[in-house]
Amino acid sequence: MFDVQKVRAQFPILSQTVNGKPLVYFDNGATAQKPQVVIDAVSRYYSEINANIHRGVHTLSQLATDAYEESRNTIQKHLNAKYNHEIIFTSGTTQGINLVANGFAAIVKAGDEVMVSGLEHHSNIVPWQFLCERTGAKLVVIPMNDQGELILSEFDNLLSDKTKIVAVNHISNALGTVNPIKYIIDKAHGVGAAVLIDGAQATPHLRPDVQELDCDFYVFSGHKVCGPTGTGILYGKESWLNQLPPYMGGGEMISEVTFEKTTYAELPHKFEAGTPNIAGGIVLGTAIDYMNGIGFDNIAKHEQELLEYGTKRLLEIEGLKIYGTSENKASVISFNIEGIHPYDIGTIIDKLGIAVRTGHHCAQPIMNYFNIPGTIRASFAFYNTKEEIDTFVEAVKKAQMMLS
Ligand SMILES: *Cc1c(COP(=O)(O)O)cnc(C)c1O
Repeated sequence: MFDVQKVRAQFPILSQTVNGKPLVYFDNGATAQKPQVVIDAVSRYYSEINANIHRGVHTLSQLATDAYEESRNTIQKHLNAKYNHEIIFTSGTTQGINLVANGFAAIVKAGDEVMVSGLEHHSNIVPWQFLCERTGAKLVVIPMNDQGELILSEFDNLLSDKTKIVAVNHISNALGTVNPIKYIIDKAHGVGAAVLIDGAQATPHLRPDVQELDCDFYVFSGHKVCGPTGTGILYGKESWLNQLPPYMGGGEMISEVTFEKTTYAELPHKFEAGTPNIAGGIVLGTAIDYMNGIGFDNIAKHEQELLEYGTKRLLEIEGLKIYGTSENKASVISFNIEGIHPYDIGTIIDKLGIAVRTGHHCAQPIMNYFNIPGTIRASFAFYNTKEEIDTFVEAVKKAQMMLS
């Protein structure tokens, strides 16, 4: 049985007060809080097994290597990847996308097309712009509608044999839209294009099955799934990872080095140059185990209740407009109140202990579409409650009164 109070008790930060008020943490889209098991695992790593991996013959090095590789296996199972060498440790979603976009410079040519969507985080736009600048490929954008949904008929029309890769998010961080990625993946494969899914915002809410999706790449960040910052995962199909050149050169990623020629290590080490975030990688496995222990069915059910309740309560407020009204949404509510700048509301409710994000959410094209400077974004996690939503709605009402 899912008991939110029991879950909350596992997160020490949630019992803090902020500005003299009990913390209401609704900025989960930016980063998730950490349960005690994750915090303890970091400390245990440094207290008991800290050593460099894949190098030493000594016992600690072996223990650290085993723990790191065990975490890779945990993540392989979690994503249902075929092989554990298809799991590459990164520093986060941003690095994962840059790694792939950089590699595609060896594949795309002038005149080819690289497709993103109008719903992307800057992390899934800028690396592709770099790629286009380097190669002369053209960036093509799938447009969205007023509900914040991708227009699939337009996507169909934009696809052609010029399309080499399609990079879209699974769930939008700014609006919460759940994108029909299975449709996108199948259609893109129909023209021979690869597909990268930015799963940064999806992995906190659901468990992706990369074989069922048949995506070529799937990336996410550890810190959004209750894991440490500076960690992340790139899943890539073996055939693609073998085809892409390495991203960084250095130790660990080589097979043999002479000044004439260097040969690269096998997967996954080819993409893991240098000493990685060992503690982070190990503890990311702990975090994934923790989330699976809570259960993604429980997480989805609880969060959908929060989304429904939060939407209903917020819409009681006069002049409030929600951006992102797709039927398929994760627990993210982006909104504005007529005549008030989002930043002003964010500042006032912070004084009341409430953490939300205000601004463009690293998705300026979406804000431009709606012709707004930004929104207030409340993003809920499985450890949030309806009582917190009540506190939040009262605080927003109070801010509205003060500001109008
Ligand atoms: C957070 C986020 C990113 C960037 O993740 P980092 O952890 O900052 O690398 C990219 N895309 C989406 C959809 C996100 O929510």
